[in-house]
Amino acid sequence: PEKVTVKDLAEKIGKNVSEVMGKLIALGVFATINQEIDFDTAELISTDFGIAIEKEEVKEEIEIGLEQEEDRPEDLKARPPVITVMGHVDHGKTSLLDAIRNTNVTSREAGGITQHIGASEVEVHGNKIVFLDTPGHEAFTSMRARGASITDIAILVVAADDGVMPQTKEAINHAKAANVPIIVAMNKIDKPGINSDRVKQELSDHGILIEEWGGETILVPVSAKTGEGIETLLEMILLAAEMLELKANPKRYATGTVIEAKLDKGRGPVATILIQNGTLKVGDSVVAGSSYGRIRAMINDKGKQIKKAGPSTPVEILGLSDAPEAGDLFHAVKEDKIARQIVEKRKAKDREENLNATAKVTLEDLFKHI
Ligand code: GDP
Ligand code: MG
Repeated sequence: PEKVTVKDLAEKIGKNVSEVMGKLIALGVFATINQEIDFDTAELISTDFGIAIEKEEVKEEIEIGLEQEEDRPEDLKARPPVITVMGHVDHGKTSLLDAIRNTNVTSREAGGITQHIGASEVEVHGNKIVFLDTPGHEAFTSMRARGASITDIAILVVAADDGVMPQTKEAINHAKAANVPIIVAMNKIDKPGINSDRVKQELSDHGILIEEWGGETILVPVSAKTGEGIETLLEMILLAAEMLELKANPKRYATGTVIEAKLDKGRGPVATILIQNGTLKVGDSVVAGSSYGRIRAMINDKGKQIKKAGPSTPVEILGLSDAPEAGDLFHAVKEDKIARQIVEKRKAKDREENLNATAKVTLEDLFKHI
């Protein structure tokens, strides 16, 4: 906003580039057509033409605020995979997540109390894996409807004693539509009399061919009840993640997606976000959907206050003006003013769209009555 190119200035004040350059040279400034000059110089020249100019702060800062710069290859660093668990009701999604977290809690920080923030991080041989609590199909439908994609790998839970069921098929379809690789967790293998070949056959009937049968999908037999196979499942997730070569740039302003949000009586609007790129710091100005604010505090999945969080980290944030919606995109920006302006612009656009919708309805009603 403080600078403008010679070309843009000429265009804005309706003069030829050569005329503008002439004035610049008279001032002792030798600028090329695409060179930027500062506002004061631009104002001097414009005044000379008898034209008053103003800084275009609002418009340009909004664009700067959400500008998606390309990450430089040297800034890209490996990031942990983000996993959702999908599958038919009662096949053991919740139990599996609990088993994974418990394995982890006991091995890493005995007695540690995990706080519910809608996602959690586990560590396997020094590598992090992030699990989203949102049931996979919800995560896929509501988030994808908003253009957000947050899952790197889908764990498809299939109960060995029940096989492929309607929601298993749905889960397969969602994952395929989103182009997200699937790892099958064949659960409840502790149960007597299970027929795993039947499950494998049903999976293959629905387009999931496991490695053992010449396909590409990894299947891990597990029991969320006894813990059998959980370690292997985690190792397979890491292996699959490695092949995806997941990377992000910790050096940029944070961007991500809102996983859940609520209005807390004591703490005000609280949102759990998954940071997908960049690093978020306490004090950062942020925008999420139609809410904005400055990060007052960040809390991780272990309930600890943290000062900064990098790519693939789920964090609860405090300091937003309202509770955003799950699936809203999240951006940190340079300053409060920009965050506020972006939200005002979004709200104005929403109002306009609502008005247009109303106008359309009344117009149609009108014609109906004729
Ligand atoms: P969800 O609906 O997919 O989240 O399934 P839940 O985790 O709530 O599990 C449904 C039922 O299956 C519960 O009664 C669990 O105790 C049981 N269950 C889950 N995993 C296992 C397992 O590995 N073995 C056995 N025997 N039961 C399990
Ligand atoms: Mg459940």
